[in-house]
Amino acid sequence: MASSADHIATVDRFAAHNYAPLPIVAHSAVGAWITDVEGRRYLDLLSAYSALNFGHSHPHLLAAAHAQLDRLTLVSRAFHHDRMGRFCARLAQLCGKELVLPMNTGAEAVETAIKVARRWGYTVKGVAPGRAVITVMAGNFHGRTTTIVGFSDDPQARAGFGPFTPGFRRVAYADVAALAAGLDEDSVAVLLEPVQGEAGVVIPPPGYLAAVRRLCDERGVLLIADEIQSGLGRTGRTFACEHEGVVPDVYLLGKALGGAILPLSAVVADRAVLGVLEPGSHGSTFGGNALACAVGDAVLDLLESGEPQAAAAALGARWRPQLASLPGVTAVRSIGLWAGIDVDPAYGTAREVCLDLMARGVLAKDTHGATVRLAPPLVIEPADLDGALGRLAEVLAARAPG
Ligand SMILES: *Cc1c(COP(=O)(O)O)cnc(C)c1O
Repeated sequence: MASSADHIATVDRFAAHNYAPLPIVAHSAVGAWITDVEGRRYLDLLSAYSALNFGHSHPHLLAAAHAQLDRLTLVSRAFHHDRMGRFCARLAQLCGKELVLPMNTGAEAVETAIKVARRWGYTVKGVAPGRAVITVMAGNFHGRTTTIVGFSDDPQARAGFGPFTPGFRRVAYADVAALAAGLDEDSVAVLLEPVQGEAGVVIPPPGYLAAVRRLCDERGVLLIADEIQSGLGRTGRTFACEHEGVVPDVYLLGKALGGAILPLSAVVADRAVLGVLEPGSHGSTFGGNALACAVGDAVLDLLESGEPQAAAAALGARWRPQLASLPGVTAVRSIGLWAGIDVDPAYGTAREVCLDLMARGVLAKDTHGATVRLAPPLVIEPADLDGALGRLAEVLAARAPG
């Protein structure tokens, strides 16, 4: 078997350098544990950015995938298949909505919602042709297509990729007055993350989402909640919006919906919104394929049990005091089993902290230079979580200046 160094050298030589991965080469994984090609074990505290909420190799999800794999995987939406109806019905029910539009990646779900919101604006709200505006938030992350990076304010995500799609207006996050001032008769939707994950687990103050909901109602604007990272149990609820009793007009789901097995995203809304699409107006070759629906259906079994949500809430309460007592940290933001930790620059960069953590068998990811992002699988054993936070405390203490 080739060594980690050999694998990394080959990837460096033949794969485009659009990522800078930590130098760990995964070979297999179960639950919260990854084993590398040399047989070393690591605790996964990233969960593929919450795509692994239910852990690696979840037996129920694997069984569903294996069973479907041998029977039917793909016919395209040109024909019906027998896994689509039940999945859509159950996902609609979970969201309390009428219709589901399955896609593949998160970015595709966002793109779909943009198209739906614009069409809704023209055909239902009566916005003048070509004038629809979607309001987005500073610090947003909604994916990597040209339209989506066009309304990002992250220079790394945008530089050199223009010209960009018009029709977006960016306002400060967690600022109701800024949002109110940014809405006008051309506004069709507000697109936001209820918790900004990529920005470093930025949690808006209590009352913000509820105020946004009221404002959208008053102005006749759709509220689109991108719950691709925040949803499906991560925050201790099925949806992060639930913490404020807020129901958006449109849910965007992805990541964990595919059970860590395949990409599966969805746009979920009532008929009054998603009904603006007619045959031919939107589609995807792989969207809603039989294998994805079978896995998604099994994911819904887990979510309907309430166990992942309860685990996130319980483990989130457990690690709160441990997070608060970490040395060398200037801020901790956490909700459920999800945290952003800002490291005092005197202790090093977040990347350096992640490399030290890796040497101690714990995998986490830095973001924006100084933030370590933690999103363990919701199936992590409490003792393993305690151990990982102990390692993090050791790593930080060892980096103390002076
Ligand atoms: C990851 C993510 C996306 C994009 O999902 P992809 O599957 O990578 O295209 C969109 N929105 C949010 C909030 C995300 O975290």
